[in-house]
Order: sequence, then structure tokens, then C-alpha cells
Amino acid sequence: MHCPFCGEADTKVIDSRLVAEGDQVRRRRECLSCRERFTTFETAELVMPRVVKQDGTRQPFDEEKLRSGLMKALEKRPVSIEEIDAALNRIRFRLRATGEREVKSMQLGEEVMTELRQLDKVAYVRFASVYRSFQDINEFKEEIERLSVNTGEDPVDVAKVLAGNHSTKGKA
Ligand SMILES: [Zn+2]
Repeated sequence: MHCPFCGEADTKVIDSRLVAEGDQVRRRRECLSCRERFTTFETAELVMPRVVKQDGTRQPFDEEKLRSGLMKALEKRPVSIEEIDAALNRIRFRLRATGEREVKSMQLGEEVMTELRQLDKVAYVRFASVYRSFQDINEFKEEIERLSVNTGEDPVDVAKVLAGNHSTKGKA
């Protein structure tokens, strides 16, 4: 690329490194004419698969929507923005890696749950309780017990979160 200072076409790469978890290449370049140095970032342009909703309609992959879903589940939880960004990157990566042009919204939800399970158990249960339409209250109980066994999380805390989301649905 041309030197942004003098317009010279010949520039030399003096340093190259992976950034953003390997999704980007950062290059330091030096102009062979004026010797000014500048930085370029290179990112692969990849098209995300479209999302097929349960009613069969198709929507473009919406990263902001995905982010806000994660943020909502993680509200007031001790998880940093960096961790959320990293989780989003991993979800994007795995969806692209399917090589499919379309993915089911269900699969997207499962990807989110996979990440939340690692990030924060309470957020995971919050999201799962809203996302999954649990068949009945027993299925919920099993999920709570499974989580408590696997994580040592206080089942009462987990249940409180669930009750908050399902106080009407659970009793109906
Ligand atoms: Zn130059």
C-alpha cells in the first residue's frame, strides 16, 4: 500500500504480529522513500452464515443482538467486557468454521450456552431458563441439580435465579 505520508508505493514490512486472538495481523511498515513508519491491520473478510429462525425466516447474523443477549444474561455478574468479547469471537469462529451458509437459531443459542457455562454459571442458568422452553418443572430441577453437582454452586442461589425468571411459568 502507498505511504500515507508521501504517497510512495514501496513500503517495507518491519514487524508483523497476530492480534485479536489471531483474527487480525498487525504490520509495522516503513516507507522506503521518506522513512516514515505506520501501522496497518489486516482482517480476513468472511461472511457470517445467515440465521434461520424457528418459523423458517432468515435473518442476517446480528452480532449486536448476540452481544446484548450475553450482556443481559451477565448483568451484575463478575465478568469483564474482554471476556465477553473473547466469547463472541469464539462463537463467530465456530459458526464460520461450520462452513454452512445458514445456521439454525437453535444452534446459535447452544453456542451462547456453551460460552456462558464457562463464563458464569448463574448467567448460564439465566439464559438457559429463558432460551430453552423447558418441558416441565422437573426438567428444571434436574438442570439445577446437575449444575450444583458439576460446579459446587449453591443450589438455592441457582434456584432463586430460576424462580425469578419462571415464577409464573413454573407454577402454571
Ligand atoms: Zn513515505
